[in-house]
Amino acid sequence: MIALDTPVQFVKGVGPNLAEKLKEKNILLVEDLLYHLPFRYEDRLNPRSLSELVPGEMASVIAEVRGTALLRTRRMPIFEMTVGQGTASLKCMWFHGTYLKDKFQPGQMLALYGKVEPSRSRAGNFKMIQPQIELLPGDKDAEAAILEVGRIVPVYESLGGAQLSSRWLRRVIYRLLEDLGNSVPETLPVELCERMQLPSRAEALRHAHFPPAGTGLRLLQSAATPAHQRLIFEELFYLELGLELKRRRMRERLGPALMADMRVREALKRVLPFHPTAAQKKVLAEIVQDLRQPTPMRRLLQGDVGSGKTIVALQAGFIAIENGYQAALMAPTEILATQHYLAARRLLERSKRQPPYNVLLLTGSLDEDRKRANRGQIARGEADLVIGTHALIEEKVEFANLGLVIVDEQHRFGVMQRFRLMKKPNAAEPHVLVMTATPIPRTLALTLYGDLDVSVLDELPPGRTPIVTRRVPDTRAEEVWGFVRKQVAAGHQAYIVYPTIEGAKDDQPELDFAHDPEPDTSLPAKSARGKVSGKKQDPKAERLFKEKAVLKSAVAMLVELQSTHLAGLRLGLLHGRLRPEEKDVVMRRFQRGELDVLVATTVIEVGVDVPNATVMVIEHAERFGLAQLHQLRGRVGRGAARSYCILMTAGSPQPVSPQAEQRLDAMVRTQNGFELAELDLALRGPGEFFGTRQAGLPDFRVANLLRDRKMLELARQEACRFVASGETEMSRASVETVWSHLRAHWQRHYGLVEAG
Ligand code: ADP
Ligand code: MG
Repeated sequence: MIALDTPVQFVKGVGPNLAEKLKEKNILLVEDLLYHLPFRYEDRLNPRSLSELVPGEMASVIAEVRGTALLRTRRMPIFEMTVGQGTASLKCMWFHGTYLKDKFQPGQMLALYGKVEPSRSRAGNFKMIQPQIELLPGDKDAEAAILEVGRIVPVYESLGGAQLSSRWLRRVIYRLLEDLGNSVPETLPVELCERMQLPSRAEALRHAHFPPAGTGLRLLQSAATPAHQRLIFEELFYLELGLELKRRRMRERLGPALMADMRVREALKRVLPFHPTAAQKKVLAEIVQDLRQPTPMRRLLQGDVGSGKTIVALQAGFIAIENGYQAALMAPTEILATQHYLAARRLLERSKRQPPYNVLLLTGSLDEDRKRANRGQIARGEADLVIGTHALIEEKVEFANLGLVIVDEQHRFGVMQRFRLMKKPNAAEPHVLVMTATPIPRTLALTLYGDLDVSVLDELPPGRTPIVTRRVPDTRAEEVWGFVRKQVAAGHQAYIVYPTIEGAKDDQPELDFAHDPEPDTSLPAKSARGKVSGKKQDPKAERLFKEKAVLKSAVAMLVELQSTHLAGLRLGLLHGRLRPEEKDVVMRRFQRGELDVLVATTVIEVGVDVPNATVMVIEHAERFGLAQLHQLRGRVGRGAARSYCILMTAGSPQPVSPQAEQRLDAMVRTQNGFELAELDLALRGPGEFFGTRQAGLPDFRVANLLRDRKMLELARQEACRFVASGETEMSRASVETVWSHLRAHWQRHYGLVEAG
């Protein structure tokens, strides 16, 4: 008997050889094959008439072969075919289509899928370039006819070559579903399915592969049929269930209970240099609430650039210190660590406490003696607040009694588990506060960060004027430099940012270029989508786009600007390849106003805070990702004076890509980090946005985090409800079904990076 956990080898039509190939695609069991869902569907029950086509749309049509020809043009052979329905006809062409020659006979019926383009040829008003094509079975092949015509037909991403084609999958899965019959075990409690009106798992799988007649094609394409929704819910429910259990386990661990009593609050008030915003107060209250629990806090603080996260974090640190614990603050760069160090000292000096607080800096670039001395003070408990880079983890620093860890600008993940290293055996685990300026929609954050709670700073400190953002082609660079001079003359400072450090071909290591993939909003099947997107058809444009020969670099432009348009101004250079001490010197001089202009790479992207800087010029702005542009812009607009962000684009020889256009438009249109993050997410898809596996993002089989956010929220609610009251609301059998499915599948399909 075939079952879901039977190896694919034993599926009719597969066998050992094909099973080997399927293994490469991670398809090992019957179940894996069944969850390889179609990525689109063709309605061959009510085929489109050629006369209804609309230029620009993706369409599938059924038509008869009328004639074919292989044209040998100077650049490449092109295979042309005219297909028709009655008197209407459509022209199709395939570049380098020699392989199609002799494959078709007039009178054969074809299913075609592609983009409809206007055509001026005599063969009808439309054409399709490189459509996907399927030869429909003739009258003789009865079995195939059942699957291929007169119904809604599933189209699959091929699992490798012609052998494991869409057509092959259609047959194998059809037979498999017949053989399985009703022996597909249910994974969700019946009570839940009834309440949410979800079809059974068996029915959902059957209908997702072979939709019943009358199913709306639009629902199918957007995975919105009850069958799809059920499969998506199932996947997200188990993900959220696992996460909820992890959250619960976290609440059983031991952490130091830190109190913010009247004395601490009074002391805090004395050190604060300004009135906190309402948002800062709210977030601090959430943190204080966590700190007083005897379980370790795991909280994510999201706040747009400039929303004032640092001061909130330092207040939490202050509370830890006043409770007799040590606090550590970790920043992604030395520049930022140093800046926090100075800010923390300024803040704590205001308390006038005797003896004064001991704040230490620990970064990789300190000399060995210094590091050793600092480590000693930390281990003996003499250091109250330790600020540093990753060196804090890497240099095996031992804390005497660490109560709180703050991680700034943590948009790379995977750091959580390493806090384990900072925990002394048998001691309580420190509280952890992670801060990020990358706003992530709440449900996604709750999923991605697994067991973190989320706070949001949704208000900027008062007195900020909006930043004026303009797009300017670099043909108008002279005007831009003139503007920079004017701002400097008025006593302000400017940043000028380049995508590379040095030389045209030199990709700056810290720059993560915008890749411009296609938006990932449909069902899986990247390769298949690539085929119809038309992207591959213009290798020349692609090559031009990649050409780096015209990229300006920070080093070269510093020299050029210093000797031409910005002669007489005090220019500094900052990039990732300088030694840490050198960076430090430059940054300090800029901070003290001894430099007018900082020519830099994206090393200044995160956190740098110089309120007197009012101009941010970004050259090759078309090259940067949206999150990066927003971060860079956030370096200005930090003081009372009006600030400007100038996005300079190099328009030639390569044009700005449509995706880059969208990014730049969005930057000009809005300054709202959440809005930009949403767009970024939509443009890049969740995988790119979060850095896929590195982010601990599971590979979903059916669900798509971006498309299915509502469902994710629902799944979260239901998972929490199940853990809280499943036992009382459901039958024993249902509860047991859920636990055994979770046990069997959590690691295989949903296992996230363990977040310590
Ligand atoms: P980010 O959230 O980007 O890390 P920062 O913590 O660097 O932002 O704060 C940005 C600037 O706003 C700093 O100069 C900081 O001193 C200032 N700031 C923070 N909170 C307030 C406030 N409540 N009132 C006035 N200025 C504030
Ligand atoms: Mg910051």
